[in-house]
Amino acid sequence: MTARTPITGGSLGSLPAATPGDVDDAVARAAEAFRTWRIVPAPERGAVVRRLGELLRAHKSDLAELVALEAGKIRSEAQGEVQEMIDVCDFAVGLSRQLYGATMASERPGHRMMELWQPLGVCGVITSFNFPCAVWAWNAALALVCGDPVVWKPSEKTPLTALACDALVQRAGAPAGVAQVVLGGAEVGERLVDNPSVALVSATGSTAMGRAIGPRVAARFGRSLLELGGNNAAIVAPSADLDLAVRAVAFAAAGTAGQRCTTLRRLIVHRSIHDDLVDRLVTAYKSLTVGNPLDERTLVGPLIDRHAYEAFGRALDEVGALAGGARELESMAPDAFYVRPAIAVVLEQTPLVLRETFAPLLYVLAYDDWDEAVALHNAAAHGLSSSVFTSDLREAERFLSPAGSDCGIANVNIGPSGAEIGGAFGGEKDTGGGRESGSDAWKAYMRRMTCTVNYSGELPLAQGVEFL
Ligand code: NAD
Repeated sequence: MTARTPITGGSLGSLPAATPGDVDDAVARAAEAFRTWRIVPAPERGAVVRRLGELLRAHKSDLAELVALEAGKIRSEAQGEVQEMIDVCDFAVGLSRQLYGATMASERPGHRMMELWQPLGVCGVITSFNFPCAVWAWNAALALVCGDPVVWKPSEKTPLTALACDALVQRAGAPAGVAQVVLGGAEVGERLVDNPSVALVSATGSTAMGRAIGPRVAARFGRSLLELGGNNAAIVAPSADLDLAVRAVAFAAAGTAGQRCTTLRRLIVHRSIHDDLVDRLVTAYKSLTVGNPLDERTLVGPLIDRHAYEAFGRALDEVGALAGGARELESMAPDAFYVRPAIAVVLEQTPLVLRETFAPLLYVLAYDDWDEAVALHNAAAHGLSSSVFTSDLREAERFLSPAGSDCGIANVNIGPSGAEIGGAFGGEKDTGGGRESGSDAWKAYMRRMTCTVNYSGELPLAQGVEFL
């Protein structure tokens, strides 16, 4: 397989892809490593993750440079991605002393009930190109402290970043077989997914990928954690601070060249401020510098490949006239795809608007009343991230209420992208339902064991059952 940079479309080198036998061997090594890793005290497992965090701090710039080179992110966002890895390592180190279980009041005298959280087993991690290392870290940092070895199948579009991360985790002292990488495309991922020794498949990518693997894991009663596509929206209410909203929308819709799962794709604006907001956005978009992501002045780097560029082009053909932006910049090379972020005013949510086009194309819709805005917002098949811009406390609370946003993430006066690691990350509906990173997402990587201890000399049965 060939590693490429979207900056020029050129090759960065060739790498051998894993064979089916290589994947099986990696899983077998991980299963063997699990036998000892699971009984290493969790704080000691945390020490490996602490050293990984320290190495990431020491190599932040170099790794960020590689992310920029391979995924096309601007430097600041690439640095942010590595910072996110450092943050989740810190979080996981603390967690390694806090894998708490509950205790419950037993109905029987002289009995104690409790929950123990046990390591689950081998964790297969499949990741997308657009977060080529942070998503692995979200999974790996937690899985490692929870006692699970990790076999990582990174995106075939970003193999070098994966190899760099693997070098760091080995240097951090991960025992043999506890952290491994298998390179390759979907077929390598499928081999991992179907291996019955993989207890948890944590897969990040398109909804199509999740639809393909979810049933396969379920068929063998494996556990899956799916982090799939998004079609994220923001409501802008009449009381919104428009200066703040314009900045937030520009970053959320055009940042990362529209290639985040949390990218803002639909803007639902009250009719009374619609034209004003569109004008302001069109002006803001004119100042977005598109180009080489390694250039400090650039705000929008390239699309990942021709496939992404063609999907963007198809969406633009379908949507017709644009309020702002344009289809194409002059390419820097025949296989490099730079586009100018675009804004399209639409009258309704057509199938096009409800489709995730992984590129910087923002649809703007007008609404007249709150219920209509929420209905438009929740009409997407995906349910990842969402925002409301308002200065009206009642509207903000309604957005966060059970009758408000139906997403896994809901923000007030912040765009939908750029989450912190401390919260659980993920979404509902076609986004797959998984949660990873902060809060109690660690529970997905462990096996819950309910234990009852009888310290009396009697044998009372539950529910008062009499026997012998
Ligand atoms: P993709 O679905 O093309 O690939 C993602 C990963 O899945 C790759 O490693 C790929 O090789 C693997 N894969 C694909 N088909 C497979 C199969 N049948 N079996 C096993 N593995 C398979 O996605 P992409 O283009 O790399 O990333 C963009 C997509 O990812 C967008 O839809 C985006 O919204 C989504 N995404 C979601 C999140 C999230 O947390 N929800 C985060 C980042 C990206």
